[in-house]
Amino acid sequence: MQLLYEGIVSQANFFKPDMVARDVLALAHERTYIEKVLNLQLDEKMTRRIGFPLNKALVDRECLLVSGTLNCCQFSLKYGVSFNIAGGTHHAGKDFGEGFCLFNDQAVGAAFLIANKLAERVLIVDLDVHQGNGTAHIFQGNENVFTFSMHAEKNFPFRKEESTLDVPLQDGVEDDEYLSVLERNLKDIFDAFRPNFVFYQAGVDVLSTDKLGKLNLSERACSKRDELVFLKCRDHNIPVQVSMGGGYSVKIKDIVNAHVATFKTAIDIFAL
Ligand SMILES: [Zn+2]
Repeated sequence: MQLLYEGIVSQANFFKPDMVARDVLALAHERTYIEKVLNLQLDEKMTRRIGFPLNKALVDRECLLVSGTLNCCQFSLKYGVSFNIAGGTHHAGKDFGEGFCLFNDQAVGAAFLIANKLAERVLIVDLDVHQGNGTAHIFQGNENVFTFSMHAEKNFPFRKEESTLDVPLQDGVEDDEYLSVLERNLKDIFDAFRPNFVFYQAGVDVLSTDKLGKLNLSERACSKRDELVFLKCRDHNIPVQVSMGGGYSVKIKDIVNAHVATFKTAIDIFAL
């Protein structure tokens, strides 16, 4: 709503995703896991790991947000950048859900692009304060997908998976250090891996106001972080899809403003 209210986007910029097909989910998740989720048949232990009891509405919502990211991929290929106003369900692995994530939208998107030869090398930039453990789990050993996660080391998930590149940060890291570490790593990854499609998980739980994050970033630095990612994509002419990821600041206003800032930065940089 805030995006419409501020005139950043118009109603015409929104799209309604279709439902995702099981075969597409199966590009990133195991079929037995998919069936169990869709039939609401996960056992108690697996359900507890997800964090909420399964019901049809929640499963439908999750399928819809995966589908949103798949639709986004086409928009990014056409216009350079696209946003899912949900998504970033990066804790869902190949055969498990975790931390309120059932299916991993950007992992399904990446696998879809590769399976359909729409991209050869896909980079997933995960700057949510929590490690993208599910994404790392899905693509372990896959040379076509580079998973990059920069996160608070002592935060959830406490058992980390191995991304292509993990940059664990100590508690309380502030603006300048965060931005210089990010800039250096982005440069190295873009130079060495030369991605032709980027997924960006732009969680705003890196903010100092966040209840669950352990970092100490200002709103300005959070925006600057987005700018670094978008500039790299634009300068290398690489389409980018953005999912929103987490945000748990005490005041809802701080969360909304930070997410809105990500949109504004992208619109400025891609001159939309
Ligand atoms: Zn998070």
